[in-house]
Amino acid sequence: MTKQTKDTGLRLPAAPDAPDREFIPPVITRSADKAMNSPLACAYEQALHAGEARVAESPPSAKNELAWQARWFSGACGRAFTTTTGAQAVIIDFGEWNREAGPDFVRATVRLDGRELHGAIEVDLAASGWEQHHHAVNPDYAEVVLHVVVDRPGQRHFSRTLHHREVAQICLADHPETAPEWDSAAPARPGRCAAPLRALTLDQLSALLAVASHRRLRRKGAVLAALTAARGVDAALFEALAITLGYKNNKLPFQLLAQRVPPKMAGSTRGEALLFGMAGFLEKPEPPSGTARQEVAALWSKWWKLRASRTHAILPRSTWKLGGVRPANHPLRRLAALAAIARGWKNVRAALESGDPGHLQKTLGSLQHPFWSFHTSWASPRRTSPLALLGPDRVREIYANVALPLALSRGKELPWHDLSAGPANATLNIVSARLFGGTLPRGLLKRLFVHQGLLQIYADFCLPDHGECARCRFPSLVADLPA
Ligand code: SF4
Repeated sequence: MTKQTKDTGLRLPAAPDAPDREFIPPVITRSADKAMNSPLACAYEQALHAGEARVAESPPSAKNELAWQARWFSGACGRAFTTTTGAQAVIIDFGEWNREAGPDFVRATVRLDGRELHGAIEVDLAASGWEQHHHAVNPDYAEVVLHVVVDRPGQRHFSRTLHHREVAQICLADHPETAPEWDSAAPARPGRCAAPLRALTLDQLSALLAVASHRRLRRKGAVLAALTAARGVDAALFEALAITLGYKNNKLPFQLLAQRVPPKMAGSTRGEALLFGMAGFLEKPEPPSGTARQEVAALWSKWWKLRASRTHAILPRSTWKLGGVRPANHPLRRLAALAAIARGWKNVRAALESGDPGHLQKTLGSLQHPFWSFHTSWASPRRTSPLALLGPDRVREIYANVALPLALSRGKELPWHDLSAGPANATLNIVSARLFGGTLPRGLLKRLFVHQGLLQIYADFCLPDHGECARCRFPSLVADLPA
């Protein structure tokens, strides 16, 4: 099913399960288009290179760890503490809620006896939680710089990383001060730019986001051009596609696989076995049964002959982050999709180079796999109807991360400002919380360029910031925007 877009004539795929698209005034697209070559684009670059709300409630129940995390994050517990060993700890930046496996807060900054430490913060009800939850041997906790403990322990418990580094520990029971308000829902705290952003008109906001999104595409285009110069178009596009399929947590293993198994090899009769084998997924597969047994056996029958010469290049299991991944997005399915892409490479490359989102959706959306179109894991029961290997949201990602930057790197400008976006991901929710207190102006979040612009602002301004916006120049850029 497709629908005709306004102005551009491009045919957009309609996501079958997407809610009805909200009406978005054409003025947003026009402001976005005009902004590309405006003084605002210069002001954005200058701001970038110039070098430059809390909520009250009584303390949560002692047993509710999540409520204590929320209270901690709101700043209600204060920000200056004495650690259990007598050091002075000041929270410079509370960081962001981590919604995935690993410590509770990431990208935090703590000053410990005058030394600034950047890393993660873990909040536990009891000091013994560190050992009980096996944080000491979990690589996800290697970057923790502060362990916050609610209860005063009866005996001393040390918090150590797997590299045997002692993690500073503070005990909230030693610091009973409370602040008046706390917020348990937001994934990040509103930044200093939230107030000036609220004062912008929809026109100004879309112009600003268009500039940021254009910068994102230019940067991706430059990377793609460099890759192409080094390794040729096919290898470059295949690698860029693989990275996009790796989503947030598995970009590196997908990139390594695309480099080690280039498209011609991956599209051969042994290609899929090579991809699964070198990914390490055939080393100790979960005990398969039923059709999965045949699937693994078919891959293994090709892989065992190749394995001996490639043992050194098999990715160790630790390269993969498999926790918290939705079954339909599991790397096993994504890898099968990469193999299917390689088998239909000529068509996929043509669709990417066309710059037409409808063409890309038709090509990638029709990819099938005899096993993975009906299963979400080796062990899952066979579905009665097929599940798309690459759904409309993933195809949009590929369009934004590969097809659009490719067009731009070749000097082609595509009319893309009116393309719709898929659902917001965790990073977008964090940016929305930081920039808009969680609520974007109506209509804006459903545009692809808005997503891309927000992600770029986050990368340009929020990620380098370790001091709760104190030195960030984005608020003054926003305040000085021409009316
Ligand atoms: S770091 Fe800058 S852009 Fe990010 S929330 Fe703070 S003021 Fe806004």
